[in-house]
Amino acid sequence: MDKKLQKAINEQIKNEFYSSYLYLSMAAYFESVNLEGFAHWMKIQAKEEQGHGMKFFSFLNDRGVRVALQAISQPPTDFASAEDVFAQTLEHEKKVTNLLEKLQDLAKDLNDHSAIVLLNWFITEQVEEEKNATKIVETIKMLKGNVPALIMLDRELAKREG
Ligand code: MG
Repeated sequence: MDKKLQKAINEQIKNEFYSSYLYLSMAAYFESVNLEGFAHWMKIQAKEEQGHGMKFFSFLNDRGVRVALQAISQPPTDFASAEDVFAQTLEHEKKVTNLLEKLQDLAKDLNDHSAIVLLNWFITEQVEEEKNATKIVETIKMLKGNVPALIMLDRELAKREG
């Protein structure tokens, strides 16, 4: 595999683990304000991101490339509200989509077909990620701070399966 692509995928492993860390931090916030359904949703999201990181990890190993893990930055720890958290989630997912598209552009420039195919999966997955975050942020906006309705939503999010 081309060195540039190796480096970029190693970088993306870090990005996926950062996403996991970010969502875990959001779960911690929700736990602190007793929104356990929201916290549950975020913990599953964090696990999913770890799975994404591992998918790239295995891909490098399968191609005989040495994985070099990088430092993960500290995620934000303070959030203003559930709406703030999901607005940040949506923004974050849009950034990730952009990173994955750039990564696929690089794979295309290098004619690395298996990397292109792997990245198709990731880019398709991003449609789902952005849709989910958009749906929740829009639902929260509709509640206009109505606490009983927020608690109903919390119970709904508690049902997410991993
Ligand atoms: Mg991801």
